[in-house]
Amino acid sequence: MRSINLSRRSFLSGAAAASALGVMALSGCAPQAEPAKEVAETGTAPKEVVETIDTDLLIVGLGGSGLACAVQAALDDTNCLVIEKNAESGGNALGVEGMFAINSSMQKAAGIEEITPAEVIAAQMEMLQYRPNGAEWVEFCESSAANIDWCLEQGVEYNGTVDNYYTGLLHTFHWFKEGSCSKGYVPQMTKRAEELGVEVRYNTTANELILDDSGAVCGLYAIGQDGEILINAKAVILATGGFCGNPDIIKRQGWNTDDMVCLGLNGTGDGFNMATAVGAIDDLANASQSICPTIPAFPVTDYKADPYNPINGLGGIATGGPIMWVNETGDRFVREDTTSVMAPSSASIATKRNAATYCVFDQNIYDTFFGTTPEAQAMFEESITSDNGYSLYSSNDLADLAQHFDMDPENFKNAVARYNESCKAGADKDFLKDPSLLIPVEQPPFYIGRMSYVFYFATGGLKVDKFQRVWDIDKQPIPGLYAIGNEGNNHYASVYTINIPGTAFGHQVNSGRVAAQQAAKYINS
Ligand SMILES: Cc1cc2nc3c(=O)[nH]c(=O)nc-3n(C[C@H](O)[C@H](O)[C@H](O)COP(=O)(O)OP(=O)(O)OC[C@H]3O[C@@H](n4cnc5c(N)ncnc54)[C@H](O)[C@@H]3O)c2cc1C
Repeated sequence: MRSINLSRRSFLSGAAAASALGVMALSGCAPQAEPAKEVAETGTAPKEVVETIDTDLLIVGLGGSGLACAVQAALDDTNCLVIEKNAESGGNALGVEGMFAINSSMQKAAGIEEITPAEVIAAQMEMLQYRPNGAEWVEFCESSAANIDWCLEQGVEYNGTVDNYYTGLLHTFHWFKEGSCSKGYVPQMTKRAEELGVEVRYNTTANELILDDSGAVCGLYAIGQDGEILINAKAVILATGGFCGNPDIIKRQGWNTDDMVCLGLNGTGDGFNMATAVGAIDDLANASQSICPTIPAFPVTDYKADPYNPINGLGGIATGGPIMWVNETGDRFVREDTTSVMAPSSASIATKRNAATYCVFDQNIYDTFFGTTPEAQAMFEESITSDNGYSLYSSNDLADLAQHFDMDPENFKNAVARYNESCKAGADKDFLKDPSLLIPVEQPPFYIGRMSYVFYFATGGLKVDKFQRVWDIDKQPIPGLYAIGNEGNNHYASVYTINIPGTAFGHQVNSGRVAAQQAAKYINS
């Protein structure tokens, strides 16, 4: 399957272009700016404030969820300000392809049979070991058709295709125009926010929340182009995209980040860091990730041009299947075809608790499954030569293979022998891997690759309730603080499933709308 339609190169150049564009403030300013130099003090360090702004609602981040939130707030006549650290809107949503809904007008037009919320929820809950809050899924599913209609009303454009995104269980994936949020959602919603008079301050980065004496959030400090800004707000909504671009937080989530490539660079973990600094519960243990195994020796997968490359693509060497996986002690630890059972990004969860994970294969496996074209062979040869044994190594001797990566050679050889017995018996005696993928590792030269990861995005880290209110360590909402989008998504509880396609972005729209409405009620209460 293909999980994203964005090459790392195009993603990075998009981000660079964004930062080169400069300020693009929208017209129709709702809040009153009060330029006044003052010195304020909070929490950690004294601030030299060059500007103070008052608003009712402050939305931090103008990506997928921030756009939905800003438009909903404006439609409800809520006095609001948006700050965005980049020079333009979109964030990681620029790489998104489509969104979830059931029983939408588009599905009906396409003749797709009714899908009950219970079908979706049961599929999610079983895969997630019944850990998420099912009540949130009920509300999310039941709002999804209306969210599509609402997006259409705001001018969002889809390409008319609703499908199961290659491998999903149900036809819930509504593709944006030209298969990209950057064509069908971000420009349209940015324009809509502008029409509705939302003020956006670009190149402005939130960095510290402020609490009042009662413990309610009453604003934050941000860095603008001229220096520190104090923004007084009755409620703050964090739409900051999660922590997919922050290796330090990813490491705390339990991943080995050596050689990891982070693709969702706009999600720098600012929302998580700011919220936990004012008492939000650290829920990283339940955060989920979209992450795909790779081997550092190979080029990063070009998901736009060549997603299924047999060497470094989905279904390539690192992503499981006919190879053997071993951990740091040289032991096999999971069936390697978990990628057939779950999306590759979810399957790699099995490697999370290893100190190191390795792919092992022989010449026969390589020839049969990977080195199948001259281009693939050239990529492999070039990779193994330039890598010089750092992450990819070949030898005619299994013991040498193990010693190269500091594994006990006897234990490793025993593990290979045990695996080969399963292969020859046509039955995996340990993990019930699909017999058609049980290929013995017996024909030299042998190969071993040390696995790393490409990290696309994370959801969660903060705990929110169904009103998107951020909880403190006593599981009580912090008054005035909301999190939406990836930052406020507890739908998955450790595994990003993708078995029901598009639910992440479906949530960006839904949570943005819900939080805008809930914050308005709070502000007016
Ligand atoms: C490449 C890619 C493809 C994806 N494709 C899909 C898909 O097809 N379908 C799907 O359902 N999901 C998909 N996802 C998952 C998810 O829907 C996206 O990550 C989505 O963009 C998340 O929306 P968001 O609003 O949470 O974050 P973003 O869209 O990233 O927006 C966050 C915004 O906050 C800003 N920001 C961050 N920190 C600060 C700060 N301190 N101050 C001010 N601004 C700040 C950022 O600059 C950014 O603009 C994809 C993710 C990636 C990375």
